[in-house]
Amino acid sequence: MKKVIVIGAGPAGMMAAISAAKNNNEVILLERNEKVGKKLFITGKGRCNVTNSKDISEFFDYIIGNPHFLYSALYSFTNEDTIDFFEKQGIRLKSERGGRVFPQSDKSSDIIKGLMNGLQRHNVDIKLNSKVTDIILEGNKITAVKINNNLLLKGDHFIICTGGVSYPLTGSTGDGIKFSKKLGHSIIELKPSLVPIEFEDTVEKELVGLNLRNIELSVYKEESKKPLFKELGEIAFTKYGISGPLALKASRYIDNENDYNVCIDLKPALKEDELDKRLQKDFKKYINKEFKNSLDDLLPKRIINFVISLSNIKGDKKVNEITREERKNLVKSLKKINFRVKGLRPIEEAIVTSGGVNTLEIDPSTMKSKLISNLSFAGEVIDVDAFTGGYNVQIALSTGYLAGTNI
Ligand SMILES: Cc1cc2nc3c(=O)[nH]c(=O)nc-3n(C[C@H](O)[C@H](O)[C@H](O)COP(=O)(O)OP(=O)(O)OC[C@H]3O[C@@H](n4cnc5c(N)ncnc54)[C@H](O)[C@@H]3O)c2cc1C
Repeated sequence: MKKVIVIGAGPAGMMAAISAAKNNNEVILLERNEKVGKKLFITGKGRCNVTNSKDISEFFDYIIGNPHFLYSALYSFTNEDTIDFFEKQGIRLKSERGGRVFPQSDKSSDIIKGLMNGLQRHNVDIKLNSKVTDIILEGNKITAVKINNNLLLKGDHFIICTGGVSYPLTGSTGDGIKFSKKLGHSIIELKPSLVPIEFEDTVEKELVGLNLRNIELSVYKEESKKPLFKELGEIAFTKYGISGPLALKASRYIDNENDYNVCIDLKPALKEDELDKRLQKDFKKYINKEFKNSLDDLLPKRIINFVISLSNIKGDKKVNEITREERKNLVKSLKKINFRVKGLRPIEEAIVTSGGVNTLEIDPSTMKSKLISNLSFAGEVIDVDAFTGGYNVQIALSTGYLAGTNI
C-alpha cells in the first residue's frame, strides 16, 4: 500500500483518487477550493456533457491535441465505462443530439455527486481549502507537497491534476504547469482552445444572447475566397461576437495575428433559388403587410431587424412593392452575413486550454512522468484538448483512471 497524493479535485483528480484507492492505496485528494469540481459544475451550461455515446474509436476524430497519446487511456476507461460508473453510483444518464451524454436530471451537480460517492465509498481522504503551493523534490523523487505555504504532506506517489488556465475563478490557474516546469518537464505553449470569437463591430443589442441552430458558419482568412472552415451547427451571439459549439470549433482556425472574416448562412438547407421561392411564398402570404412583418415564418424574431438592416429594403415598405432585385439581394444577405473578426477572446474565457505538460515526457500507458518515477499526470494539465461534445471530461476521467491504476 502506497500513500498517494492527488492534487486537484476536478474530474481527472477525482477519478485518479478513486482508482488509486480501489487498488488498495491510501489516497489523499487535495483541493484548493472549498468544494470539489467547481469547473465541472459549470460545464455544459450547468448540465455537464460528461461524455459522448459515439463509438470510442471515433473519439480520436474530435481530439485536436495529441489524439495518439490518448489511445491507452480512452481504451482503458471508455465512454461506456463512464456511463457504467455513474449508473453504479445511482446517476442515470441520457444521450442527446450528436451523441452528447448528460445526466438525466440535467444537473451537473449529479455528476459531482457520483464522483463524490465513489470517493467516499473508497475512503479517499478529501482535504478542501488545501492549495498546494510547492512540490518538494529530493534527488529524482518527490517527497512531499507544501500546503497553503506552511504544512508539509509526505507521500509515496503524486498525481498532478490541476487542469489548464481557462476560467481561473474555478481554481484552474495553471499551478500544475508551474510545478511541472520546476520539476524539469517541458511545457508546450498555452493557448486558448475553443474560445469565443470577437467581432470588429459592436453586436446589435437585440442579437446578444440569441442562439441560432442549423446555420452554417465559414471562416475566411483575409481576402481568400476559399473558407478555412465551413460547418453546420449552433452559435450564440455574445456582447462581443459569437460563442456556442460551432463558433468554439471555428476558433481553432483563427489567430490574433491575421485578418479573418466569419460568414453566416442562415438557411444552409436551401439553395439560393429555393430560398427565393420560399420568400416568394411568404411574400404572397403577407402581401398586404409591411416587409418587417413578413419574415416571421422564416427567421427567429430577434434577428429580423438585423436582416432588414442588411437588406437595404425599408422595414415599412409594403411587401407588394418589393422588387425582384430587392428580393434577390435579400436572398444573398440571408445566405451570407459577413462579420469582420477582431480576434479571439482571452485564454481565461476559453473552454479548454491547449498546450501543457509535454506528452513526450509522459508514458501514455500509465500517465507516469518519464522524468520522475513517483509522479503522474491526468487531465487538462497535459497537452491534450478536444472539441466540444463531452470529449474533454472523458479525457479527464480516462487519464485519471489510468494514472490512478498505475501507481
Ligand atoms: C464553461 C465551460 C464549460 C465546459 N463544458 C464542458 C462539457 O460540457 N463537456 C466537456 O467534456 N468539457 C467541458 N468543459 C471542459 C472541461 O470542464 C475540462 O476539460 C475539465 O474540467 C478538465 O478536468 P481536469 O480535472 O483536468 O481539470 P479541472 O476541472 O480544471 O480541475 C482542476 C482542479 O484542480 C484544482 N487546483 C488547481 N490548482 C491547485 C492547487 N495548487 N492545489 C490544489 N488544487 C488545485 C482546481 O481548483 C480544480 O478543482 C468545459 C469547460 C468550461 C470552462
